Amino acid sequence: MQENIIIAASETQSHRCSMVQPTWQQQLSHAIRDPQALCERLGLSSDWLAGAQAGHDLFDVCVPEAYLNRIAYADIDDPLLRQVLPLGEEALTPHGYVVDPLEEADHRPAKGLIHKYAGRVLLIASPNCAINCRYCFRRHFPYSDNSPSRTQWQEALDYLRSDTTIHEAILSGGDPLAASDRQLAWLVEQLESIPHLKRLRIHTRLPVVIPDRVDDALLGWLASTRLQKVVVLHINHANEVDQAVVDACARLKQTGATLLNQSVLLRDVNDTAATLANLSERLFEAGILPYYLHVLDPVQGAAHFDVPDEEARELVAQLRDHLPGFLMPRLVREIPGRGSKTPL
Ligand code: SF4
Repeated sequence: MQENIIIAASETQSHRCSMVQPTWQQQLSHAIRDPQALCERLGLSSDWLAGAQAGHDLFDVCVPEAYLNRIAYADIDDPLLRQVLPLGEEALTPHGYVVDPLEEADHRPAKGLIHKYAGRVLLIASPNCAINCRYCFRRHFPYSDNSPSRTQWQEALDYLRSDTTIHEAILSGGDPLAASDRQLAWLVEQLESIPHLKRLRIHTRLPVVIPDRVDDALLGWLASTRLQKVVVLHINHANEVDQAVVDACARLKQTGATLLNQSVLLRDVNDTAATLANLSERLFEAGILPYYLHVLDPVQGAAHFDVPDEEARELVAQLRDHLPGFLMPRLVREIPGRGSKTPL
């Protein structure tokens, strides 16, 4: 019996080796986008289906296979599953939870451009994501009004050209790396022609969700830009960092990019000091420095993820007992109207 299993396993292995690895675009197009398929794929009891459907009706489910592979089967408490499984609680509307918690609508001087802080602007380089995180503060963002064509990008680029105090362009989304490399290479070329721009920052979850996104085409335009590069990844739990993610990060680093991470403090995902310490250790093993630990932005549909500020401060105090200073993320809240994030 044991022998049969070994033979079957080795046949499967050689079959896999002979298969062509799907591109990141193919992996994205095959992502699970149906709550029932998600529950079945992960062996969840049918009790979860009604809630998953209700949450999905408010914000579509989207999880690619490369991420699903890291979720334990039939474990409703899996910390990665909690980030992607829609729940009935998303329909609750507690006081203070709103559709635009950061009031970004007040800071859009041009289509696709958000200018909140001195010296840097944010460009919505793609309206799409490779995964839909249930706690996302942009889950209600009007992407259809902020997806410029090349011609429309000129207005945003003119804005950058005319303000010599802007030194940094931040590609955001959605997930900016969900855009094609042709589009991104064009946009970065436009940005590097603006003399006062020094830095390109990319906020992305794609190298974590589909590590194959870090392919030669991406590495080509990223390595060749004159701008200093910072890639801010978004990882909330150590289990998200498998070997494929470690390898993707190594490829990104070869372009000369600095790798940082920002996490969101989430109930039942990473709300213990031990979990956060593991995360920082794992990030460093992958060549990433912990940067921010955000408390939840009060976006409608995500209140069940909230960890109160007092508890967050206590957690970070405990974390200091576990970690050297350079592995400590900064605990912050984003408050609309302030000139920077607010340390807690
Ligand atoms: S990848 Fe980022 S922008 Fe997209 S849903 Fe997740 S948190 Fe939101």
